Order: sequence, then C-alpha cells, then structure tokens
Amino acid sequence: MRQLRALMGRIHPVIGPPGAGKTTALIALTEQHPRLARFSVRDYGLALAGAGHPLGLAMRDTLLRGELLANEVVREEFGHFLDHLPAQVESVAVEGYPRDPIQCAHLAEAVEQRGAQLGALALIDVPDDAATRRVASRLICTGCGRPCPAEGACPACGGAAARRHDDADDHLRRRLREFRALSAAVQPYFRQRNLLWVIDGRRPPEEVRAELAQVLVPDRSIAPAGAAGGRKGRGTT
Ligand SMILES: [Zn+2]
Repeated sequence: MRQLRALMGRIHPVIGPPGAGKTTALIALTEQHPRLARFSVRDYGLALAGAGHPLGLAMRDTLLRGELLANEVVREEFGHFLDHLPAQVESVAVEGYPRDPIQCAHLAEAVEQRGAQLGALALIDVPDDAATRRVASRLICTGCGRPCPAEGACPACGGAAARRHDDADDHLRRRLREFRALSAAVQPYFRQRNLLWVIDGRRPPEEVRAELAQVLVPDRSIAPAGAAGGRKGRGTT
C-alpha cells in the first residue's frame, strides 16, 4: 500500500445540500491545483465501472439509481482511490463520504492507515429555499456527470446537458431532508476534534470557492517532502 506523504496528505470531506455548488467548485479547484484531488463516491464508482473494474461494476446500478452503497463497499472504493492517487497529491476533497458516525470511523481509519491526516469537514451551508432555487436551474452532463453551464453539449466531453432526474422537485425535497440528517450525523465527529469548517454558501460562487481553497489547498509555505535539501521526513521513504 502506497503511503500518502506523512503529515502532508490531508483528507477533507466536503458536504452541502444539493445546489450548494460543491461539485462545480471542487472540479474547478482540482483543475487549478494539481496537488488537490477530488473523490466522489458516485463519480469514482462510475469511473471504475466504466473501466470494467469489478468493484465499479458491482456499484454501478446502485449509483445510477441514486441509492446508498453498503458501508463495506464504500470503504473499499475509498481505499482503492487512496491507493491509486498520483504522487503529487497532498490534499483530497471527499464528496459523498462519510454519511454517518460508522463511516466517519472507517474514513479516519483509512486515512490513518496510509499515514495521512484527517482534515477539516467543510460544510457549505445553504438554506433549503436557496438550494431549491439553484437546483431548479442547473444542468449536468449525461456523459461524464460534470455540471454544464447551459443547454447543449458538455464542454469537457461533448455529452448532452440535462437536468438530473433526482433534481425533480419531489426528489429534491427528499434529498434536502436526507442532507440535513446526514449533516447532523457527521458533524459531531468533526466538531469534537475541532475539525468543522462552516462556509456560508449563500455568497457568490467565487467567494465560496475561495474559502474552500483556504481549507483544501496545501500550504505552500511547507517544503515538499523529498525536495532536495529538505528536512528529513518522519515517515518511511
Ligand atoms: Zn461531459
């Protein structure tokens, strides 16, 4: 098992209601910052399925139905992700995991096993009415799942842009309720460890993204591990 850089690999769950803009912000941030990676339970699982990986194929139908995976399955998926990170990655934003106190413990254990560090839980806070208005107007790519700015083709892969079927109003009300329950279930674990960072998601997307970057993007004042003449690391090399 490859180790993330000791003390530098930080894992940050990012949560927010549907419409909080977290996926858009995280995709933009990972494109700007090569040392930041994004893990999404849904997108990584579908990518594994697309690559024909047995783990991905086992998750595919559940993900496409918008249902939750069993704890052990997500645990395995997340472990696979961590073990295949490019060497330059120092910080990971995690979407869709953990969802409850048991998954919090699983996540913390996976992080610790790899010599990485549990970072702050970033909560992008948006009231239900504002989240509802935003979701009513958003589109995603039916090919790669990325947010699309307008009707037509996806700028990334050329797939068709459409509303997600689970953005329809009745689904949305359920997802907002589920988010509030999830948020209440995972916050205590991070608050007790002084690792809760609440971001006011009612502000313009650029401001939310800038604050997320403060949480997620590795501190450039720290010399990269293994740099010539750098301080000797604590971990194995
Ligand atoms: Zn696409």
